[in-house]
Amino acid sequence: MTSTSWARLLEGNQRWAEGRSEAGDTRGAVRRAELTGSQSPKTLILGCADSRVPAEILFDQGLGDLFVVRTAGHTLDAAVIGSMEYAVEILGVELLVVLGHEGCGAVAAAARVVDEVAVPHGYIRDVAEKISPNVLRARLGGASTLDEVGRQHARYTVEQVRERSTVLGDALRIGALEAVAAQYCLSTGRVTEVGAVPEQHLLAV
Ligand SMILES: [Zn+2]
Repeated sequence: MTSTSWARLLEGNQRWAEGRSEAGDTRGAVRRAELTGSQSPKTLILGCADSRVPAEILFDQGLGDLFVVRTAGHTLDAAVIGSMEYAVEILGVELLVVLGHEGCGAVAAAARVVDEVAVPHGYIRDVAEKISPNVLRARLGGASTLDEVGRQHARYTVEQVRERSTVLGDALRIGALEAVAAQYCLSTGRVTEVGAVPEQHLLAV
């Protein structure tokens, strides 16, 4: 992945993680006034709702820069995919980032469903059950830690978006949209791209 938009986000993440945020002016009254009539974000973020993973802050972006959809464990449903389709088809975003993170409670809950048949109550169950197949798939692929499982869950979520949405799948196929799976590290503040090949496989070579 070498897109300019992704490179800019990684640069913003590095700035923020190192305490050199430049987003201040882009979050103020002038920028707000510029955006009252329209928006044209270039990037769509599908991220976890975790309070520690706010996309605009950790990528050092301002008002109007990111179209953000956040659910626990970046799980998908019709409203989520519909929101994403709006961002691509109507607003014309060019980059999709699925952003998972270290220490994700939703991924941990899904792992407990798989490992202990510990099924959460209420609609938390729906969240865990949407992630559980990806936990199994990651484990079968050799992922041994929750962090590795979370990274692969982000990658599989990109695949699910591509498969389930005709609008997004077509945009990816013709190159109107690029997609990146990424993982945020709580302790360092850094975002890293999840490669197509699980890291443990690379290490085993
Ligand atoms: Zn999470």
